[in-house]
Amino acid sequence: MVRQIIHIDEEKCNGCGLCANACKEAAIGIVGGKAKLLREDFCDGLGNCLPACPMKGLRRRPSATASLRRIHA
Ligand code: SF4
Repeated sequence: MVRQIIHIDEEKCNGCGLCANACKEAAIGIVGGKAKLLREDFCDGLGNCLPACPMKGLRRRPSATASLRRIHA
């Protein structure tokens, strides 16, 4: 099973920081006025941040690094 992580649409992001506040894993931070997934390995993929975003700029996606690990495993 491929691990799910959060994808942030920077075009929609207004930098409010609500997703970072909602993230219990401290995986998201605001850099240059935009939300960033700073620590992909901290993201549990459960999506606590998703309903916090007023811009609907967050969604889950498969982790690329997990996919690469599967290819080379
Ligand atoms: S909650 Fe949405 S708009 Fe606010 S910083 Fe996070 S991604 Fe950007």
